[in-house]
Amino acid sequence: LSPVPSDIEISRAQTPKAVDVLAKEIGLLADEIEIYGKSKAKVRLSVLERLKDQADGKYVLVAGITPTPLGEGKSTVTIGLVQALTAHLNVNSFACLRQPSQGPTFGVKGGAAGGGYAQVIPMEEFNLHLTGDIHAITAANNLLAAAIDTRILHENTQTDKALYNRLVPLVNGVREFSEIQLARLKKLGINKTDPSTLTEEEVSKFARLSIDPSTITWQRVLDTNDRFLRKITIGQGSTEKGYSRQAQFDITVASEIMAVLALTDSLADMKARLGRMVVASDKSGQPVTADDLGVTGALTVLMKDAIKPNLMQTLEGTPVFVHAGPFANIAHGNSSVLADKIALKLVGEEGFVVTEAGFGADIGMEKFFNIKCRASGLVPDAVVLVATVRALKMHGGGPSVTAGVPLKKEYTEENIQLVADGCCNLQKQIQIAQLFGVPVVVALNVFKTDTRAEIDLVCELAKRAGAFDAVPCYHWSIGGKGSVDLARAVREAASKRSRFQFLYDVQLPIVEKIRTIAQAVYGAKDIELSPEAQAKIDRYTQQGFGNLPICMAKTHLSLSHQPDKKGVPRDFILPISDVRASIGAGFIYPLVGTMSTMPGLPTRPCFYDIDLDTETEQVKGLF
Ligand code: ADP
Repeated sequence: LSPVPSDIEISRAQTPKAVDVLAKEIGLLADEIEIYGKSKAKVRLSVLERLKDQADGKYVLVAGITPTPLGEGKSTVTIGLVQALTAHLNVNSFACLRQPSQGPTFGVKGGAAGGGYAQVIPMEEFNLHLTGDIHAITAANNLLAAAIDTRILHENTQTDKALYNRLVPLVNGVREFSEIQLARLKKLGINKTDPSTLTEEEVSKFARLSIDPSTITWQRVLDTNDRFLRKITIGQGSTEKGYSRQAQFDITVASEIMAVLALTDSLADMKARLGRMVVASDKSGQPVTADDLGVTGALTVLMKDAIKPNLMQTLEGTPVFVHAGPFANIAHGNSSVLADKIALKLVGEEGFVVTEAGFGADIGMEKFFNIKCRASGLVPDAVVLVATVRALKMHGGGPSVTAGVPLKKEYTEENIQLVADGCCNLQKQIQIAQLFGVPVVVALNVFKTDTRAEIDLVCELAKRAGAFDAVPCYHWSIGGKGSVDLARAVREAASKRSRFQFLYDVQLPIVEKIRTIAQAVYGAKDIELSPEAQAKIDRYTQQGFGNLPICMAKTHLSLSHQPDKKGVPRDFILPISDVRASIGAGFIYPLVGTMSTMPGLPTRPCFYDIDLDTETEQVKGLF
């Protein structure tokens, strides 16, 4: 239709096929799905065992240039591309997307189901609770947080013997260690299995974790943009008097448990990763883990359904997995390894899996390659780099783009000079993808105000910068048929032999890995570590965690650490203000500049427009 109706109107106008019909169409067996409502199902991991001898399909990553705060259409391109491949070129394909956080859905950006005629439906189910995975992460994360502070309180108020007697359960009147306690004894070097034989010294050693409260890195989380939780004081009640401390909330999608969910490849692996998560150091400088707190089993129980990918569909009835949703600026920003692995089997050798990395290629794609592909062992065949004339004009010196404020005329009228000047960002992002040896197809997501001359110029400059191909796409306004040229180009690019390589060797010292990313990817002159960051790096290296990949927490609005520096900033020194360690997820997590792990709400958040028609139960105002 012209003009194109709102995202939610388009979504509602199309009735999705029943999810069991979709599951059957893509080759899933009835006992491999668990249906949630009419149009969503969880897919059991047993399918991986059944299809283990099936060759994988082609693996395509969608990334983007440095975006405006409005988003440049990566999700929309991902959906448009699979609609074109499956519904118009007759190639099996699967889209793998992240579950959106409630923060941006009610904050600035809106949902992430794609848009126009390239969407996942029903978009309100996609954008809101889905099947509860993010809620499960919040629950698990906060159980662990509660376990830490409670343990400190109890250790401070009880004798060693009393603690020990409470921690080791009585079974038929006899004390017995649980499985997890036996593992802890082993870690402490106490080779005993009978509780009655422990010496007094061993009892104390076992009973006390002696957590140093000043080293706690595990934060509470909530999936709401609530800036007032960035710094809080906990333990103000009369029963916890004397044990209050400064703490903070992060947004749930930045939780290490979200990263564990996204990077795991089985239930057993998830349990092991949850157990390895380091939450603090003890008073002698040793790491304290979820296993030490005895909480791993409970966390795994809370996460047992979340591990199964969620099956949904596009507007044109093609399959989509929605699974895990870490942000690409303050987390690693990629959907789950499990969803990609299952989809690669289901599409068959000739098929395509299109998976999306968050924000610009400098963060989402870099982490896709260096963290996700390293964890999964999967090798990508092509990168689709999404660009818009709008964002390029911004990089060329156009006025700032703000959500909720109408675009200035530079963006609605032809301006060849701004586009030409802004293509430096596109060229740089192409070069970043080339560092990894993967062919790049530029997808120019066309808006109705873009002119022929602007479109041709971007495609020409992209090819000159080394892109395998560059094509305009029109899926937003006309659906999959508007992206057939892109689908053909991607098919061609993916038929070449991949020369994929990682950017750095994980065995390098932490500082060297950070410097490599800063210089080779962001274009920084060098890095500068705060004393706090240096101390953490020393501690993690000494604790034996130096050989993990790096997950930079950096603004998505610039290649540098300063959101207002557009285009290709040069000669900057990248400040590393702090460093955290996500040992269960398997990465070291430096914070760049003033990056916050809890976003805030703007003056006029999206929630102003969201409403429910209480007669029809229809959701209004989501986009
Ligand atoms: P990203 O994944 O890069 O953040 P999205 O695909 O979520 O971006 O798109 C952001 C918003 O822009 C969505 O609301 C979408 O409907 C809108 N949008 C995307 N492409 C177009 C287009 N070609 N024309 C108009 N609006 C678009």
